[in-house]
Amino acid sequence: MANKDYYEALGLKKDASEAEIKSAFRQAARKFHPDVYKGADRDDKFKQINEAYQILSDPNKKRQYDQFGSADGMDFGGAGGAGFNGFGDIFNNFGDMFEGFGFEGFGDIFGNARGASAGRGNVRSKGEDLRVDITITLEEAAKGVDKLLSVRRFEKCTKCGGSGSKDGKDPQICNTCGGRGEVRQTRQSFLGMMSTVSVCPTCHGEGKVVSSPCTDCSGSGRAVKSKDISVKVPAGIRSGSKLRLSGEGNIGQRNGTNGDLFVYINVKDHPVFEREEDDLYMKQKISYSQAALGANVIVKTLFGDVELKIPEGTQPGTSFRLKGKGMPHLGRTGQGDLYVAIIVNVPTDLSTEEKMILEYLSNIRGEKTEISKKYNNIKEKIKKLFI
Ligand SMILES: [Zn+2]
Ligand SMILES: [Zn+2]
Repeated sequence: MANKDYYEALGLKKDASEAEIKSAFRQAARKFHPDVYKGADRDDKFKQINEAYQILSDPNKKRQYDQFGSADGMDFGGAGGAGFNGFGDIFNNFGDMFEGFGFEGFGDIFGNARGASAGRGNVRSKGEDLRVDITITLEEAAKGVDKLLSVRRFEKCTKCGGSGSKDGKDPQICNTCGGRGEVRQTRQSFLGMMSTVSVCPTCHGEGKVVSSPCTDCSGSGRAVKSKDISVKVPAGIRSGSKLRLSGEGNIGQRNGTNGDLFVYINVKDHPVFEREEDDLYMKQKISYSQAALGANVIVKTLFGDVELKIPEGTQPGTSFRLKGKGMPHLGRTGQGDLYVAIIVNVPTDLSTEEKMILEYLSNIRGEKTEISKKYNNIKEKIKKLFI
């Protein structure tokens, strides 16, 4: 849908309550129902408010939408959307919403849409999407990693082969709707004569019913099982990303289709490296002599040791960039950089000899130190040290 701002679609503020969302949807649905609203964008408009309501009325989808600004699958170039399940769900929204205040007549739209998209009387039940959270280290995120997940999910019942039937005779064609999955009525409403089509109350749109259910699955055709699923976590992934494993969610009832499995990634904080986008930041201690005189120091990066040249007279806090030693860019070539901030280590364990040498140095530079009082004839003593 073109306008993805679901709040705006319903004329709501971002902090709208559940009741406000419901009420806004009712109003919008009345206003933009294609039997009432005749604008050129009538179909889009109606679909839009439905999609918006479907997301905002579902606490999980709403949370996801609020967090990621989308109810879709992967954050990076992922395949298709998971949020909107087509007309079946619209229908369910209306089933809930308009019951009890005498407004009918949505049937035709949905009947037609259903017929066109899913095949009349043959609505295969779709299994639920599942979520698994995993935590990986920064090292794993830097190189990519294969993880084995143990997922508990609905799979096909082995006893009945997913049919839900005890004796293999089910499911049978639904008597109420004759297998169409919907029932049509023509009636008088305040908008005139209307032909209404609604989901068959007996088979809930499947067109089939199970009269003697399988004893293992009570007719659902599915059972909870544990399954090991391996997931390839790509190099460069960030905390909060999610991966979609298409078709690895629950199976739908009675040989329905599978939902998807979403793997949410958490990348553990690292004791050395801080990450910002694909750049990494670290601190490297050097001695004051190294800072003053310059040195080559070894920096331990995520991709092995690297020699860093510290120039003479380097100041504390100076930052050096190691190009291409940051995190890999996700889904494309190249890497971020590693920034090494220099910390000058002031020693706290000086020997008497070292103190005297430093004192001598301070003397040469005309600096006053605490220690000056303690050592008389410092020059003489230092000379002796070097003999
Ligand atoms: Zn069964
Ligand atoms: Zn039926």
